Amino acid sequence: MDSLELSPQTQPSLRVGLGRVLVVEDEELIRETVALGLAEDGFDIVVAEDGLTALDMLGGTSVSSRTNRPEINLVVLDLMLPGMNGLDLCRLLRHQGIDVPILVLSAKGTETDRVVGLEIGADDYLTKPFGMRELVARCRALLRRQQGKSKAEKGSILQFEDIALYPQECRVFLKDEEINLSPKEFRILEMFMGQPRRVWSRDQIIDQVWGHDFMGDNKTVDVHIRWIREKLEVDPSHPRYLKTVRGFGYRLG
Ligand code: CA
Repeated sequence: MDSLELSPQTQPSLRVGLGRVLVVEDEELIRETVALGLAEDGFDIVVAEDGLTALDMLGGTSVSSRTNRPEINLVVLDLMLPGMNGLDLCRLLRHQGIDVPILVLSAKGTETDRVVGLEIGADDYLTKPFGMRELVARCRALLRRQQGKSKAEKGSILQFEDIALYPQECRVFLKDEEINLSPKEFRILEMFMGQPRRVWSRDQIIDQVWGHDFMGDNKTVDVHIRWIREKLEVDPSHPRYLKTVRGFGYRLG
């Protein structure tokens, strides 16, 4: 992988922790100029010379390392690249649900390119030649917007390990794959995810999910737990998420 990292150590006095920017550009002079300009403004910089390298660095390829990959907060993306061009890269990232903000750079300044760039999921567009101050201002604005967005989203998502539950949308994802739960299964999982590792007795689960007018017996809880396990667990008889606590009830994690 052809990447250069201007680490905090090389820019000690300039580091203010604005975020990490990936600069994707094959022309060395532009790449270095953009990288240095953003680094001077306090961004951490990583660079890629082509689309495939960038895709890998963003976790979009099957061989991408998930553990040692530094988090990238913003991509500055040139459209004219060897191999996979910028538009294809942008489209592919969005298709894979990678929603990092993207600022497109292009020598093409036509309205059509701009529209296409924004339509396939770029967040902003700058035409070459551009001034560094303009680029820095756009990068700052995109990061601010993204930080505001993730704060708002975090407020409404319940997350436990690989499970993400969106209470308002009534949707559950396991490692980005949507899981279809019945309304009761959803309510049970929501209750567990609201307080991970708390033990709930069958009666407490019935109270929370069915309410006081429940007519069945508490074996109903076991049945629902089994159904949820079948949807969430790799091995439902050795659950990793919804565990049985003998003599008490159930626990998440
Ligand atoms: Ca280029």
